[in-house]
Amino acid sequence: MGRHIYVHNPFCVRKCPYCDFYSITDRSCAEAYYDAAVKEARFWADFDKKHGSSGDNGPDTVYFGGGTPSCVPEELVCGLLEEITASFGIGSDAEITLEVNPASFSKEKGKKYLSSGFNRLSMGIQSLNDGVLKTLGRLHDSKGAIKALNEAFEAGFANISVDFITGVPGQDMEMILDGLKTVIDMGVKHVSTYSLSIEENTPFYDLYKDSIEDLLTPETERGMYHMVRRFLGVNGIIPYEISNSSIPGFESRHNTAYWDGADYYAVGAGAHGYLNSVRFGHEDNVESYIKCACDIKENDILKLLGYANAALDSIEGFLYCEERLTLEDKMREYPFLKLRTSKGIDTAEFYSRYGKRFEEVYKNVLESNTGKGLLAVEGQRIFLTSKGLDLANLVMEDFL
Ligand code: SF4
Repeated sequence: MGRHIYVHNPFCVRKCPYCDFYSITDRSCAEAYYDAAVKEARFWADFDKKHGSSGDNGPDTVYFGGGTPSCVPEELVCGLLEEITASFGIGSDAEITLEVNPASFSKEKGKKYLSSGFNRLSMGIQSLNDGVLKTLGRLHDSKGAIKALNEAFEAGFANISVDFITGVPGQDMEMILDGLKTVIDMGVKHVSTYSLSIEENTPFYDLYKDSIEDLLTPETERGMYHMVRRFLGVNGIIPYEISNSSIPGFESRHNTAYWDGADYYAVGAGAHGYLNSVRFGHEDNVESYIKCACDIKENDILKLLGYANAALDSIEGFLYCEERLTLEDKMREYPFLKLRTSKGIDTAEFYSRYGKRFEEVYKNVLESNTGKGLLAVEGQRIFLTSKGLDLANLVMEDFL
């Protein structure tokens, strides 16, 4: 399995009222933050040479997410990628994605992103209906989104993904399908669709907490979900995961690596990674990140990631260990991650990784879920049925 790099940009122009991700709107420290991220990237590149699989083409994918990476000067983003490419020795066939928002994207920026090495864009369009975009508190309208998407193609990006949100108050099926049709006709290769979830500690929660039940019944939400998948599939954008669909060959290699349990480095405040069977996260704090990333002590990292005898659970203000996975944990996690994908579980792969037969380890869970019509078995492949997709969380939890 290859290695991957996730970079987190925590800055946004404005906080969307439904968002509960870690992001901040004060961009005055963006330069200091990116300087610190360069230092952290150099540290991991050096670490990769010592502990990764040296001699290969370097990590397979790099993903700059956020936050809104396009809302900080492009020189910072491009400079960090160039540093990562040089220090890790990223190969020319790597997938390198940048998340952008229509309101902070332009053709000029796009050209700079492309020439610094990004070869895939993920654009947060969310909807092409102005009423829905207003409800979501987005900074762009439908015209702005179409303009940004056009400019991304004109800048030279051929591999573009867009995000859409469903289940927004006041949104109907026609609005969603019209928006999807427009972006498909424009030539996007990949679509991610997410159902709006109203989280505590957001303005949306305060606004809708008394009417959450009335906003969208589970039946309507599921109906929308299946209709969207069917529509995308009929139009050549084939669902390959619970929330993701693409033209075959344009599946996100970076996200596929997550579902495959691959190792990935994490750079930036709030970024999460997985190395040496340890899940770890950066503290959600830009100020302390800037301080700590400039003074990383290798010994502390070795202890936190289980390379040294003494274990360390956190490095104050910087990193913390979320979980140390045993072989049993990984065996339990395997179906949880794989069932998200249309390919599903590969019993031969399970055997080669863990030396046990999947059908024996999970005999009861398998029988009960296939009996209920939630899982299907085809040769060495086990996957969620259409009915199983509606109860995916319950099925996955059954394996834990
Ligand atoms: S742009 Fe994205 S990360 Fe930023 S506040 Fe809005 S939803 Fe959250």
